[in-house]
Amino acid sequence: MIDFHAHLDLYPDPHAAARECIVRKLFVLSVTTTPSAWSGTAALTEDAPRIRTALGLHPQIAHERKGELPLFERLLPQVRYVGEIGLDGGLEYRQYWPDQEQVFSRVLSLCTLAGGRIMTIHSRRAATQVLDALAKEPGAGVAILHWFSGTQRELERAVDLGCWFSVGPAMLAGNKGRALAAKMPRGRVLTETDGPFTQVDGRAAWPWDVDQAVKALSQIWSEPNDTVQRQLVSNLRRLTKFSASSE
Ligand code: MN
Repeated sequence: MIDFHAHLDLYPDPHAAARECIVRKLFVLSVTTTPSAWSGTAALTEDAPRIRTALGLHPQIAHERKGELPLFERLLPQVRYVGEIGLDGGLEYRQYWPDQEQVFSRVLSLCTLAGGRIMTIHSRRAATQVLDALAKEPGAGVAILHWFSGTQRELERAVDLGCWFSVGPAMLAGNKGRALAAKMPRGRVLTETDGPFTQVDGRAAWPWDVDQAVKALSQIWSEPNDTVQRQLVSNLRRLTKFSASSE
C-alpha cells in the first residue's frame, strides 16, 4: 500500500507512527511543512527504504516561514521529493496571499534550477492559480496534486499539464471527490491519507487507512482490489523512474 502524503512528524508519537509504517511495509511519502523540520523528520525513517521524506514549506504558514527559503535552497540538492508546497485560497489565508505566491514561485524556480523534483502540492481553493504557476515552470518536475478539489474544468487542465493526483479516504467519501477521481487518468493516480489532519471513522487517519482509498477506487474504477493495488504500485514505479532519469 502507498500513502503518498502523510505528516509522520505531526503524529503525537512520530517514532511509533514511523515504526508501524515500516512493520506494515507501506510505501510512504513523509511530507514536511517547514524546511527546519526536514532533518528531524528524515531521521525518523533513515533506515526505511520504502519511506521518503519530502522537503516542504506549507502555504498556510508561508508568511511565518518565508525566512526559511535559504534553508530550503540548501537542502534541495539532498532530496528527490518536495512538499508540502502550494497555495491556499481559503478566507483565513487570503490576507497572506502575496507571501504564499512569493514562496511557491520561488520554490518552483529552485526546483527547475535543480533539474526537477517530484512535488506534492496543496491547491485548496486555488487550483487555477496553482496550475498557472506550474504552467510557468514546466521544468520544476512532476506535480502531484494532493486532495484535488477544483472544478472538472480545472481537472482537465491539470491533466493536460501532465499533473498526477493523490486521493484519500476523506476526498473519496464525497460525491464531488469521487466524480473528480473518476476523471483522473488511472496511470497518474496514487493514494494518500494526509494524516493526521484527516479523519477516518471519527479519529485521526493513520497511513495504513489508505486501504479505504483503495476500496473506494475499486468501486469507482469497477476493478477488484488487487487490480487497483497493482495499478497503484506500477504508477509509483513509473513516477520514481521519471525522477531517476531526470537526475
Ligand atoms: Mn497535508
